[in-house]
Amino acid sequence: MRTTYCSLVDQYLPKYLEDDVSSVRKEQIKEHLSSCPDCRGDYKRLKFVLSHLSQVEEYCS
Ligand SMILES: [Zn+2]
Repeated sequence: MRTTYCSLVDQYLPKYLEDDVSSVRKEQIKEHLSSCPDCRGDYKRLKFVLSHLSQVEEYCS
């Protein structure tokens, strides 16, 4: 089930992964991720993509 937290996570996930959100927001997102499999899936996917990207950047530099 999509909730308002789902759209919040959608919106802030990239920043969350870059550790570029306030601690309050971070807690909200973390808490939502632990209770929402949908968003957790998005989180894992995005995290995978980002870690892959940073590896590529390291490789190129
Ligand atoms: Zn969600």
